[in-house]
Amino acid sequence: MNRAQNGPLPAKLIPNLGLKHRNTFGFDASAELAYEITSPEQIPAVISDIAKQKLTWRVLGGGSNVILPESLSGATLLMNITGQEMIASDEVATYLAVGGGVNWHELVIWTLENDLPGLENLALIPGTVGAAPIQNIGAYGVEVADYIDSIEAFDAKEQAFVTLRKEACHFAYRDSYFKQNPHRFIVTQVVFKLPKIWQARIHYADLATQFFEGSNPSPEEIFLAACKIRTRKLPDPTVIGNAGSFFQNPIVPQEQFETLLKTHTDLVSYPDATGKRKLAAAWLVDQCGFKGQRMGDVGVYQNQALVLVNHGGGTAQDVLGLAKCIQDKVRAEFGVSLQIEPNIF
Ligand SMILES: Cc1cc2nc3c(=O)[nH]c(=O)nc-3n(C[C@H](O)[C@H](O)[C@H](O)COP(=O)(O)OP(=O)(O)OC[C@H]3O[C@@H](n4cnc5c(N)ncnc54)[C@H](O)[C@@H]3O)c2cc1C
Repeated sequence: MNRAQNGPLPAKLIPNLGLKHRNTFGFDASAELAYEITSPEQIPAVISDIAKQKLTWRVLGGGSNVILPESLSGATLLMNITGQEMIASDEVATYLAVGGGVNWHELVIWTLENDLPGLENLALIPGTVGAAPIQNIGAYGVEVADYIDSIEAFDAKEQAFVTLRKEACHFAYRDSYFKQNPHRFIVTQVVFKLPKIWQARIHYADLATQFFEGSNPSPEEIFLAACKIRTRKLPDPTVIGNAGSFFQNPIVPQEQFETLLKTHTDLVSYPDATGKRKLAAAWLVDQCGFKGQRMGDVGVYQNQALVLVNHGGGTAQDVLGLAKCIQDKVRAEFGVSLQIEPNIF
């Protein structure tokens, strides 16, 4: 059969799909009904099918920023759209179109191999390209929004494919228009704009200490440094289940920061782009004595207080129970609310 003439094969339907290996916490979870999406053209039929059956639905990428319950009712869309290509180039930038299901870290490697630097600070972040704009992934002083030109998505509300320019995506710290409108957009492709004039971004303390003062590291050296720091600090999800940072760094008004500083002179914080102050959530959790603590099968990672881990056999309820204890203690101690970063399904 000539598929080019007849369109792509319909999305593969998989009932009762085990997701233990598709969520980095390693929770024992299964999806009642999964649709494997390998091409954008499959999506309208899938959404219409879901609507006809009045099912709830959600999108799952690599599962590295989700907290899954034992059973996911309704439909789960598995994003497996691949493909990456240079689509344009002008005096200022090179433009890349990348499928939503492409592995993020592999894309970073591919860009460096093709002499297209820019994304090196974001090396080794798990997950897919389609999920990267959802919470505007960031690390070591760089956010993915810095390199996004536009997003191709299916808008389930309007029942149409849309192109959102960067300005329409309302990117902010771990936030975007997509995150603010859950169950609406299915990101099929991200168009990146990688500037032709490259500048090292090593101002972030952890990264800066990897280089001699005044040195001018290459993109590859920054890539290797970022990988080295991450490997040292963060637990490998294939060894111990986790979803990276569990809490966002809370942003507080300058006055509240100054009051806290009077009683906690070693408070760790960073200036925020909006003139407020971003507190280091890891420091707050650590000060409350949680680092390395265990509660049943879940706990706080011994080398990084911001990472909650599944020691094996833990569940969504267990990790959310531990999170609540931490949130309560931090609020009582510092008057600051910690927001959970992973998406609770
Ligand atoms: C060890 C570790 C380290 C991490 N370090 C960082 C870090 O440094 N910085 C950082 O920002 N994050 C970090 N994370 C979090 C995570 O890697 C990112 O949020 C990543 O972008 C999630 O990608 P994913 O494909 O796994 O998304 P999933 O976990 O599958 O989904 C996350 C959310 O995005 C939605 N989604 C996924 N794909 C799509 C799509 N195509 N269209 C629409 N919605 C979609 C899902 O519905 C869900 O709400 C880390 C996680 C781990 C486990």
